[in-house]
Amino acid sequence: MSAHIIDGRQLSHSFRLDYGQRVKQLVENGITPGLAVILVGDNPASQVYVKNKVLACKDIGMHSLMLQFDAGMTQAQLLGEIERLNTDPSIHGILVQLPLPKQIDPQAVIQAISAQKDVDGFHLESAGALMCGAKGYWPCTPHGCLKMLDSIGYDLTGKHAVVVGRSNIVGKPMALMLLQRNATVSICHSQTANLKALTLQADVLVAAVGIRHLITADMVKPGAVVIDVGMNRDDQGKLCGDVDFEGVKQVASFITPVPGGVGPMTITMLLANTLDAAQSILDSQH
Ligand code: NAD
Repeated sequence: MSAHIIDGRQLSHSFRLDYGQRVKQLVENGITPGLAVILVGDNPASQVYVKNKVLACKDIGMHSLMLQFDAGMTQAQLLGEIERLNTDPSIHGILVQLPLPKQIDPQAVIQAISAQKDVDGFHLESAGALMCGAKGYWPCTPHGCLKMLDSIGYDLTGKHAVVVGRSNIVGKPMALMLLQRNATVSICHSQTANLKALTLQADVLVAAVGIRHLITADMVKPGAVVIDVGMNRDDQGKLCGDVDFEGVKQVASFITPVPGGVGPMTITMLLANTLDAAQSILDSQH
């Protein structure tokens, strides 16, 4: 048996066609959705992520503003930029690319972003809303994973979902989203004893760790759905996930590839959040 591949590029493409139409409708109503992306320093990976986000905005006709600052920027200067964007009516979403240089506290920066423009979904208000099942912006990566499960018509009710990784931006919000869909959720992390015993119980396994090939075929229950969030480099410098794709695809029923899986869906959910932010401005005018 070889697992079906959930193609994140193809799925993103279909979402983005629809989002292009939503942009047109908003423009007809006098609002051009706008995203500001802030990059501090010259981390090469961050430069690629930021460029992809800006290109994705352009592709669907959204306004984007890329602000790039040198690595020596102070926290006060960055907070000043955010304050300006918070009140800029042409900007509906603000994203600060992480990681930030050491002199800047990422929490202080994230909390300075207006909750109405927090399209990354990292603000405490957004995290609280997700925790309580209230309306708010969901973090893009786990939201993209959920959309991938939806795309195969997977009903999570009563299923055991195992999330490996407990970060604030992927693991924890992923677990909350799966819980909201009535899955029974286990969260594993660096201190989990006997990871394999838990992953083997998973009907849905989400790997969000950052260790290449951490999840091998012998750790996966036959027929499980495997979502690979990890982004690592192999010995040849090629992008790869946390899952041993070639081995695990012989055991799983569905699997996401790296690249071409969760990555594109993350950007797609960023577009979705920015559209929602623009839509809420339009709604508030009526
Ligand atoms: P993080 O470093 O903040 O968290 C990693 C988590 O893995 C931690 O909670 C830690 O407890 C856990 N962990 C570490 N070693 C472990 C082990 N041996 N066994 C089990 N758990 C272990 O990372 P993050 O920001 O959550 O990102 C995780 C991965 O996902 C990274 O590879 C990152 O590049 C990738 N990522 C991809 C996207 C995307 O769009 N595709 C977005 C965000 C993150």
